Amino acid sequence: MTGTRSWIEEAEAALRGGPARILRDVPLARRTSLGVGGPARLFLAPENPEEMAAAIGRLASAGVRFEFLGAGSNLLVADEGPSFVVLSTEALVAEPLIEKEIVRVGAGYMVPKLVKRVAAEGLSGIEFAEGIPGSVGGAVRMNAGWHEGMFGQAVAAFTAVSRQGVLEEIRTSAGTFTYRGSPGVGDRCVVAATLDLAPDDPARIADRMREYRDHRVSTQPTGARNAGCIFKNPPGDHAGRLIDATGLKGLAVGPAIVSDLHANFIINRGGATCREILRLVDAVRDAVLERSGVALEREVILWT
Ligand SMILES: Cc1cc2nc3c(=O)[nH]c(=O)nc-3n(C[C@H](O)[C@H](O)[C@H](O)COP(=O)(O)OP(=O)(O)OC[C@H]3O[C@@H](n4cnc5c(N)ncnc54)[C@H](O)[C@@H]3O)c2cc1C
Repeated sequence: MTGTRSWIEEAEAALRGGPARILRDVPLARRTSLGVGGPARLFLAPENPEEMAAAIGRLASAGVRFEFLGAGSNLLVADEGPSFVVLSTEALVAEPLIEKEIVRVGAGYMVPKLVKRVAAEGLSGIEFAEGIPGSVGGAVRMNAGWHEGMFGQAVAAFTAVSRQGVLEEIRTSAGTFTYRGSPGVGDRCVVAATLDLAPDDPARIADRMREYRDHRVSTQPTGARNAGCIFKNPPGDHAGRLIDATGLKGLAVGPAIVSDLHANFIINRGGATCREILRLVDAVRDAVLERSGVALEREVILWT
C-alpha cells in the first residue's frame, strides 16, 4: 500500500483495465444462507478460470487482500461487510463433463444439482451430499461431509489459482484433505474439480439419496436460515451432543437462536446481526467449556 490510499482505492487501481467487471456495495446477506452481513465494497464474479487468475494476479501484485465466495452456506459476514475484495465463483458454472466414471465440473456449480446429475448417470460416491447447499469449490475447500462421507474422497484432481494468480492442476493424495479442511488446497481458489465416481444402479443411488434426505429433514432445521454446523465435532464426540447436554437448545441473542432440533445449528429467525450471532457462538462455546472442558472450534468462517 502507498501513501494514504484506502484498500478500496488500491484495489480499484489494480483491477482497472482487467477483464472482470467490478461491482460495488454488493449485499452479502442475500448471498449467504444465514442472511447476515454488510455489503462487499468490491465484488467480482470472473466468468472463466483465466479471468479469475488475472484478477488474483493483479490484486496480489498490489498487495490487496481478497477472499473467495462460493454459495455462502458456511459464512458469517461482519455487519460492516468484509474489509477485502470478494471474488465470487458464481459464474464458474461449467456443466459437468462426464466420461465414464470421471466427472469434470466448474467450482460454482451447486453440489445438490451435481449429485442429482451424476446419480441419473448411474454414478455413485457423493450422494451423501444431496442436502449440502454449497458450491463444488466450497465443498472441496471445506471437505464437506455428512456421516461417513466426505467430498474430498471423490476428488481426484482440481484446478486452482494460486495466491499469486497462477493456474495449477493439482492431483489429490492422502494428505490433501482432513476433517472439514483441505491443507492440499491451502489458500488457493478452486475453479474446477475432477471427481472419480463409481458406477451403480441409478435406482439404488436414488434410494440412498432418499434415506439421507429423510434423515437430514428429521434431524436438522432444513427450512430455516442457518449455516449448517456452527462448530466442528471434537475428536470422538459431537458438538451438537455437547451443546444439548449443556442445556443450550433455545438459547437466544436477539433473533439468533440455538436450534431445538439440532443444537449445533444457530438459526437466524429474521434480522439477526453478525454481532448477535457471534455473542451466541461465544456463549455456547464458554458454557460447553465450563461444563465439559471441551473447547469447541468454529466450523463456520467469519469474514470481517
Ligand atoms: C442447511 C445447511 C446444511 C449444511 N450441511 C452440511 C453438511 O452436512 N456437511 C458439511 O460439511 N457442511 C454442511 N453445511 C455447510 C456448507 O454447506 C458447506 O461447508 C459447504 O461446503 C460450503 O460451500 P460454499 O460454496 O457455500 O462455501 P462458502 O460458504 O461460500 O465459503 C466457505 C469457505 O470456503 C471458501 N471457498 C468457497 N469457494 C471456494 C473456492 N472455489 N476456492 C477456494 N475456497 C473457496 C470461502 O472463502 C470460505 O472460506 C450446511 C450448510 C447449510 C446452510
